[in-house]
Amino acid sequence: MEKIYEMAIIGAGPAGIAVAVESRTMGIEDILLLEKSHSHSATIREFYKNGKRVDKEWKGQKIDCEGNIVFTEGTKESTLNLFEKLLAAHEIDTVFNTEAESVKKLDSIFVITTSNNQKFKAENVVIAIGKMGKPNRPDYKIPPQLRSKIDFNLDRCRPKEDILVVGGGNSAAEYACALVESNRVTLSYRKERFTKLNEENLQQIENCVKKGALRLKLNSQIEKIQQIDEKVGVFFRDKTVEKFDRIVYAIGGTTPVEFLKRCSLELKGDSLEVDENFMTPITGLFAAGDIVCDTGGSIVAALNHGYKIASYVAGRKRGVK
Ligand SMILES: Cc1cc2nc3c(=O)[nH]c(=O)nc-3n(C[C@H](O)[C@H](O)[C@H](O)COP(=O)(O)OP(=O)(O)OC[C@H]3O[C@@H](n4cnc5c(N)ncnc54)[C@H](O)[C@@H]3O)c2cc1C
Repeated sequence: MEKIYEMAIIGAGPAGIAVAVESRTMGIEDILLLEKSHSHSATIREFYKNGKRVDKEWKGQKIDCEGNIVFTEGTKESTLNLFEKLLAAHEIDTVFNTEAESVKKLDSIFVITTSNNQKFKAENVVIAIGKMGKPNRPDYKIPPQLRSKIDFNLDRCRPKEDILVVGGGNSAAEYACALVESNRVTLSYRKERFTKLNEENLQQIENCVKKGALRLKLNSQIEKIQQIDEKVGVFFRDKTVEKFDRIVYAIGGTTPVEFLKRCSLELKGDSLEVDENFMTPITGLFAAGDIVCDTGGSIVAALNHGYKIASYVAGRKRGVK
């Protein structure tokens, strides 16, 4: 007979891993975790710089861990290690390189269809796909010949490059401060001061600027980019034009609207509507992590969503509401 999982989770980031681990801890047996990348926690792996300090209070969110997963601040590496160990210790059946394309409810069972046309059935499904699968792009055109010089993380940055980092959040600040070690760096932000930075990042930016290692371009709006002399020519609204070897955009991510439509879900604002147990308007279909956070979530928030969902599903199984 075709297997029907009690709990299928789409996305093995902090939220998905938390749902899986908490569910296992609470006695849910058949758990499936689907991940489109080759390993878990793709956002942390791809968008955190190596050695990054991982804050527990991200974006000023002071939240305590409610569930069984103990998360304290650490580094990119220690955070990945924590999730690696949790998946192994709880023997979570994780299927990598598998991208979910849609979720449909047929009678009372959900069918998840993947991009390679596999089908998985489950009684409960949790969508935990985050928002970084599609990093935000600028609203002006990126000329095709500049594509090799435009990035959304630090992977392709090389020492000695003259780099423009665009953004005003903690990710942009961390990218800029990491690059100053071996590059000429300019940080461009459209507002006149930073309002979203945590104290540590603000301090680091100030230190880098004081040392002359980082140039700030506040109140700077980019109108277009264009190739000039093999470089990226940046045209600012104040009519100045500058040339850089590379631009790194750190301007957040986009909710995957099309995927949600294929799950018969609609957005309210920039996030999904869920109840106090993180259930969507479709009974048995839950959402957790960044995808339910309007203004950007955090690891602790994602872990707590996972705990809430597992508690609810396990409680329902025991006949407790
Ligand atoms: C640069 C940067 C720095 C940050 N620093 C911090 C910090 O210091 N502290 C902190 O608390 N937070 C930080 N955050 C935020 C934190 O990373 C997120 O809040 C957290 O990762 C959200 O977890 P999530 O599980 O909801 O989503 P994600 O971590 O984005 O995980 C989603 C997972 O789902 C997978 N996926 C996507 N679509 C599909 C699909 N269709 N099928 C299967 N799998 C899919 C992805 O590959 C990914 O592995 C930072 C974010 C960024 C970008």
